[in-house]
Amino acid sequence: MQSNQPQQKRGPARDVVDYELLFDCVHCGLCLEACPTYILTRAEMDSPRGRIYQMKALAEARLDADADVVRHLDFCLGCRGCETACPSGVRYGALIEQTRAWIENNYRRPLSDRVRRWLIGALFPYPSRLRAALTPLAIIERAGLRPLLQRAMPRGLREWIELVPALTGNGARSSTAPAPDGRGPVAVHHGCVAQVLADSANRSAERLLGAAGYKVVPLPRTVCCGALDLHSGNRRRALEFARANVRAIEQSGAEYVISTASGCSTAMAEYGELLKDDPELAQSARDVSARVKELSLLLAGERQPATRRFECVVTYHDACHLAHGMGIREQPRALLRSIPGVKLVEMEMPDLCCGSAGTYNLTHPQAARELAQRKADAIAATGVDYVVLANPGCQFQIAAELRRRGARIKVMHLADFVAMAVFNGNEAKYSDRIS
Ligand code: SF4
Ligand code: SF4
Repeated sequence: MQSNQPQQKRGPARDVVDYELLFDCVHCGLCLEACPTYILTRAEMDSPRGRIYQMKALAEARLDADADVVRHLDFCLGCRGCETACPSGVRYGALIEQTRAWIENNYRRPLSDRVRRWLIGALFPYPSRLRAALTPLAIIERAGLRPLLQRAMPRGLREWIELVPALTGNGARSSTAPAPDGRGPVAVHHGCVAQVLADSANRSAERLLGAAGYKVVPLPRTVCCGALDLHSGNRRRALEFARANVRAIEQSGAEYVISTASGCSTAMAEYGELLKDDPELAQSARDVSARVKELSLLLAGERQPATRRFECVVTYHDACHLAHGMGIREQPRALLRSIPGVKLVEMEMPDLCCGSAGTYNLTHPQAARELAQRKADAIAATGVDYVVLANPGCQFQIAAELRRRGARIKVMHLADFVAMAVFNGNEAKYSDRIS
């Protein structure tokens, strides 16, 4: 039946964000000191409150998406530290993702920006393309010429290359765990960048789960979790990736799914919300999200495999999405403390972003470097032997900074560190997993 009412013009507000969510912010400012970009610049527009103000102004068409606004919104790391600090439950992560998707459709970026974003989007989510792109560097590294190459490069390029971990031998000694018909089944999503640059963590996780009595099942072909696209505003492709992964995880029959990359864990844990309007997959996505766990949860208590004594002092860095997105802080620490001989000491602000933040260290190298330096200072002040973390991006970022200053502190993924304690106390066997 046709209505005689004039059709209400759809205002800009509904196009930018879930408008009602903006009103959860009461402008108290309690999030400001938890925000890495505000700590760096002390500018209100680089704070969560200032960004929410800009999102609201965009939504109400009081502000145009110009270079200045986009710069402030791009400058956000998406770390969600503000969500932890916010007493009003503001869903900042959802707001910034929605706003960025709107910006991508409503703002024409300068050419250099478009080229860089295109390159990152065309390369990083596809392991075969990334491997191919890194082949020349792997050849140079095998010939022992990588240090020479890095020294000869201009500073900007050198800092990018320094982020790439050793390409030869990564995970070479790893082996998939036998799959006892025990608890679980559990599947490890190998990620995209992670499977190229940090696959040892995936393999170590599988071995540990097997040793803990879980049946480890392979996933049918999975793709990037979509986090990279969600954070950069390419929501359409993020949805495609999410659908493919939901189907693959369902097909695997896994009761639990883990990722050794914190951003991927959070993205998969939020598939239920992301695909809530999908007529075919909404329920499956909710089921998959409920199955996403963190490795330390599955290895907790009586399920933890026996470990050898391992005398060392360790500090734990909280990867943003694990701490602020999934609220997981204590379990990895408890796992480390349970290893005989390990002494855990805390660094200052262990959950402040290290500047890695997906591809932030490529798009905002200066700010990322400043955050890496703060993190390295905090780690160095602890006097530890190891810094352990549960996200490959943080591993590359922190390791590069510690290497630059000649620090002897070793950086290891939680899965590799625990595997070293469980399977072999001899560090030499795990040397290719230490950054
Ligand atoms: S996500 Fe991180 S960088 Fe962005 S506003 Fe929140 S605390 Fe600041
Ligand atoms: S986001 Fe939360 S903590 Fe920050 S100003 Fe708004 S209400 Fe306060």
